[in-house]
Amino acid sequence: FWHDVLFVWNTKLRKRIVRNASMFDKVTTPFLDNVDIRTSGSKPKTLSARHLGIIKFLLRLHLYRPADLFELCGHPLTAAILSRELRQRGASGRVTSEGFCQTFISEIASLLQPITTLPTGPQQPLIYPCAFHAWVFDGYDIEDLSVAILRGLITTTKTEAPKLPIHSLGVEKNPPKDIWSRDIKMNKHVLPVNADLLYRLQHNALYVGFRLQHVDGAATLCHHGCDVVETVAHLFWYCEFAADVWSEWLTVLQRYFDSPIEWGTIVYFMDIVPTEHAKNAFGYSLFVIFHIVRVVVLRCLWTHRNDIRFHGEKPNAIAVKARVHALIDLHVAAFWEVTLLKAIRQSSRVRSQLHALLRELPVTAPFEDDGDPSNHGTEEPTQDTTGTNLARG
Ligand SMILES: [Zn+2]
Repeated sequence: FWHDVLFVWNTKLRKRIVRNASMFDKVTTPFLDNVDIRTSGSKPKTLSARHLGIIKFLLRLHLYRPADLFELCGHPLTAAILSRELRQRGASGRVTSEGFCQTFISEIASLLQPITTLPTGPQQPLIYPCAFHAWVFDGYDIEDLSVAILRGLITTTKTEAPKLPIHSLGVEKNPPKDIWSRDIKMNKHVLPVNADLLYRLQHNALYVGFRLQHVDGAATLCHHGCDVVETVAHLFWYCEFAADVWSEWLTVLQRYFDSPIEWGTIVYFMDIVPTEHAKNAFGYSLFVIFHIVRVVVLRCLWTHRNDIRFHGEKPNAIAVKARVHALIDLHVAAFWEVTLLKAIRQSSRVRSQLHALLRELPVTAPFEDDGDPSNHGTEEPTQDTTGTNLARG
């Protein structure tokens, strides 16, 4: 959101405002980090980004705006006076010579030239709207920030991520560091409502009975009829109702993993290790399908729980399982479409891996199963077969 706001501001609005700026504004516009005062060249830089020697003296003397310069040197500003005034105030070295002062003055000429006479009257206060400055994140101008760079900045940030308060989730370890980038990638393949519920679960933000025990008369026991307090782990995993819904999918999926599929696996994909065979045969598809299964089952269990809690429905495992099937079919079909559109890398290989995997799972395949995956999977990836594939799909 802020990226969009700043981008629109910087590319569309700021220029118009600068053009209409009054003389007063020009006199009080800061020039050091000003994106309108940039050096020419293939990669224009603001004055402060160029590290001109003279700037360190300007900073020391608090000379940020034309008004500050005029106050020191009078109007009009000349290189000789500026050099003299700076040196009188302790500046030294070649960088404050008349020649270098002249270079500096010509750098901010676009700001100085329109100021032919000093406007009389009150000037703006020293605190100037910071929106006139360049917005720089980790060395990138805001205009140069693409979504990929933004993500990179977040995931490679040097500061330690704070520990999640997940004690009551029933997961022993904190999630792996790459959870961010991995879930962003995986969540592209599921509906946002599912991704949202997973996020709330991972951050312990679901209000189950366990968290309502301090409220008088709150329903805190499992809604499936167990006589235990409803914790997140119980609702989604340890409850027999939940185990029943999972079993159909996890007994098949477990075959492809050397690591046991446990509660932590479901929440964070913690320590998940595919078998050598599964890695080769299904690759990326295996994780996408597992991700689809986990978010769909989680959300179906959650909505069903809410239906019991708030709408007086009775626990109904058959209905939940049917809904899980329908939603997984829907997601798998959507993922199949994505592979046809070649929106992901090596899509034809992914497609043949997915084809192989879906034959093992209780999924309604989104393609006619003629028993020969090569018909679907091995079209030469260089040719543009999108049209024919779509027709077939
Ligand atoms: Zn239960």
